[in-house]
Amino acid sequence: MCGIVGYIGKQDAYPILIKGLQRLEYRGYDSAGITLFDESIRTYKVKGKVSDLEDFVKESNRSGSIGMGHTRWATHGEPNDVNAHPHESQNGKFVIIHNGIIENYSSLKKQLTNYGYEFKSETDTEVLVNLIEYLYLDSKLTVEEAVRNALQIVSGAYALVVMSKDEDDKLIAARKGSPMVIGIGEGEYFIASDASPIIEHTRSVIYMNDNDIATISKHGLSLKTLGNDVVAPKIHELDLEIGAIEKAGFDHFMLKEIFEQPETIVNTLRGRVSSDWKDVHHGGVMSVLPQLVNARRLIIVGCGTSWHAGLVGEYLLEEFARIPVEVEYGSEFRYRQPILYPDDIVIAISQSGETADTLAAVRLAKESRALVLGICNVVGSSIARETHAGIYTYAGPEIGVASTKAFTSQVTALTSFALMLGKERGTLSQERLETMISELMRIPEKITAVLNQNDHCKYISDLYKDAENFLYLGRGYLFPVALEGALKLKEISYIHAEGYPAAEMKHGPIALIDEKMPVVVIATKDRSYEKIVSNIQEVKARKGIVIAIVSEGDTVIKEMADHVIEIPHVEEAVSPILSVVPLQLLSYYIAVARGCNVDQPRNLAKSVTVE
Ligand code: GLU
Repeated sequence: MCGIVGYIGKQDAYPILIKGLQRLEYRGYDSAGITLFDESIRTYKVKGKVSDLEDFVKESNRSGSIGMGHTRWATHGEPNDVNAHPHESQNGKFVIIHNGIIENYSSLKKQLTNYGYEFKSETDTEVLVNLIEYLYLDSKLTVEEAVRNALQIVSGAYALVVMSKDEDDKLIAARKGSPMVIGIGEGEYFIASDASPIIEHTRSVIYMNDNDIATISKHGLSLKTLGNDVVAPKIHELDLEIGAIEKAGFDHFMLKEIFEQPETIVNTLRGRVSSDWKDVHHGGVMSVLPQLVNARRLIIVGCGTSWHAGLVGEYLLEEFARIPVEVEYGSEFRYRQPILYPDDIVIAISQSGETADTLAAVRLAKESRALVLGICNVVGSSIARETHAGIYTYAGPEIGVASTKAFTSQVTALTSFALMLGKERGTLSQERLETMISELMRIPEKITAVLNQNDHCKYISDLYKDAENFLYLGRGYLFPVALEGALKLKEISYIHAEGYPAAEMKHGPIALIDEKMPVVVIATKDRSYEKIVSNIQEVKARKGIVIAIVSEGDTVIKEMADHVIEIPHVEEAVSPILSVVPLQLLSYYIAVARGCNVDQPRNLAKSVTVE
């Protein structure tokens, strides 16, 4: 995790770096720091947010047209001033910012200690910068050579930028496993973990590949591999609007992103559903359609919210395409020697396309010769590039750490994908396909109807903001929604919450229910409606507080529940996309009522690019 930004050119670097760090703060906010150069190299760093850094440097010399900045999500060493990046080498020759983990840092640290190095911080990053300096001084290398040699010695993941005292007119950037983008302006270059700090300066970018090293001066850029082979840079045109990365009048990015969902679902479906609503296709996977149609098994991998989307995908793909599906956490899949057949298809789901464990699962699956698809939001991300084919969700940048619109667009993509596969495999009739397409296409207006209940959701949230535990229950397609609702609440309000299949409540969680326990039940009218009504009775019999998400016009549950939130009726298979919206609003307003920092919840960061 963490955000990296760099600038070299003719403008003042400081405002560009600070603004860039603010845009990247969703990636980590344990500490922030910058290094600036004009006549000397100066580093300022402090525990806390980018705003704390701004206060800290208010009276300092902020000049310089070369610089770099970092916002940290700590992996090695607690968040404090000393562990904050940038880190300087012992003899002051090098300064580094780093995203990722140097896995062999401990043995390297021992060796460097034997060579007389002393360490100020607990970070793996300081080991790397001292290794670079040691090689530079010991073997009389150029700065670029020293960085390259050091990177050949370290294992793990990184995106980094290095500045050096001896070659102070350049920045060296490298990546392996963590994202890095270089923006090309006129006589100036921008480096960042994603395109958001770059977009207002230039649209021409280079996405660095793993094992690339870029040496950048005001006059040009050279790109090489770690093995010192020259790489011809591929310049891409950025397709991103500034408005998409700003709050647009909402108090928080999360609320803005919840309210964007009617539009983001349309974007996910655009070009995929035919204009007469009779057919659906995903251009990004057409090249592998024969393998898809004949797949023996689908294995979906993801982490966090993407794993929940994968669970919904399992229900969808088994119902419509009749292919067996397994859903795995990326982190478990990659380390448990899974059995993969060449006719298995692995589908990796990741909003950022950079999730370390999911990316590792992709690589493992490719080694086993399985066909691998990606469902990603960020165009050009690592998973999108490394998979054989895939589907972009086109939800636009998601900045709130708690995922909302990314989830609904992932589920929308999975729904339309399952429909396409069902049609191609002959397991779905044309009539049912058209019904489902029409259900899907009407979801955006129905989400708008749910969003109109914003004030009602806020009212309920205020009543239960002080609860210590919450239970979320759902059945069938709505079970993963219960998991997602509980995750949202945990993430941003720090209330303990659990999601359960409603029928499982009797096998344990029911023991927790008392008059202080709010139980959110997703109880829309579908196949298991009668059953879930019984589950509500069971909660009420133990004096639990029931907040029920029900279909419009439901009078039965209204009688029993303490509160109901009505949502328009939809077919069961598309109900996750709609029923998750009130849960997002509940968690948002509970967190706000508790005074929590919704967009930057403690200990979390947006995309998890470390294991
Ligand atoms: N491992 C480094 C640290 O703990 C970098 C972490 C990050 O990616 O933010 O400082």
